[in-house]
Amino acid sequence: MRLGVIDGRAVLVRGDRAADVGRTSQGRLPADPMALLEQWQTFRDWAAGLAEEAYDIEVDPAALQAPVPRPRQVFALALNYPPHAAEAGFTLPEEPLVFTKFPSCITGPHTTVGLPAGKVDWEIELVAVIGMPAHRVPVHRAWETVAGLTIGQDLSERVCQLRGKPAQFSLGKSFPGFGPTGPVLVTPDEFDDPDDLEITGLLNGEVVQHDRTKSMIFPVPDLIARLSAVVPLLPGDLVFTGTPAGVGNRRTPPRYLTDGDHLVSRIQGVGEIHQRFTAPAP
Ligand code: ZN
Repeated sequence: MRLGVIDGRAVLVRGDRAADVGRTSQGRLPADPMALLEQWQTFRDWAAGLAEEAYDIEVDPAALQAPVPRPRQVFALALNYPPHAAEAGFTLPEEPLVFTKFPSCITGPHTTVGLPAGKVDWEIELVAVIGMPAHRVPVHRAWETVAGLTIGQDLSERVCQLRGKPAQFSLGKSFPGFGPTGPVLVTPDEFDDPDDLEITGLLNGEVVQHDRTKSMIFPVPDLIARLSAVVPLLPGDLVFTGTPAGVGNRRTPPRYLTDGDHLVSRIQGVGEIHQRFTAPAP
């Protein structure tokens, strides 16, 4: 099942058609995607029996918005792929390195991002969306708490991110528009293996990041177990699971996003998101 958002309303997406959840359920289920995530199991049971005729909306991909527009908590992982940890000059972490992207930075799949002053970098990431209250979840039950997977860009302004000793990541990763997500939320059952998905980042058509999510040091179930051991997770929470190698500040010479750049972030079975970048206002 693929859940999208159009005009602020939750829609089920199948191919190039969509069904409006609130209207098709005649108000039994909420139109608002955040409210819908609070009733995820009811929604899934209802959606499973939905007739083909319900898909009466033609989808313009550019009209899709963030599948989870107002998450209460956004977790993000540093150094969760061995080649990225190596390129950043670190040994593999023994515990997940967690920071946040403040929720106001979360946007949708097709956006234009105004570049703040500094050095803005790309980080394609698989994002897990929590679908039920989850506290102290064991690893073997962790996938049950996931509503679905989507794509995220953990856009990062490196000067702000790395300022100070020890550095604090969260502000430099939370400028307006720094958390594009989408194009849809895809339920785990849609994948042959949700722990092994091809992940590819392209800058102006050139592949700059490419790996498989099975390379993660802490896979999705492990992350959920470790995060929920401390923090009660809530429906709609996002977990940005870390980026593969190939970010701009570890290239020789370093490469940062500039006016006119076009970034495509693609994950097998989910789709792709598109970001364009414009220079800051003088
Ligand atoms: Zn990241």
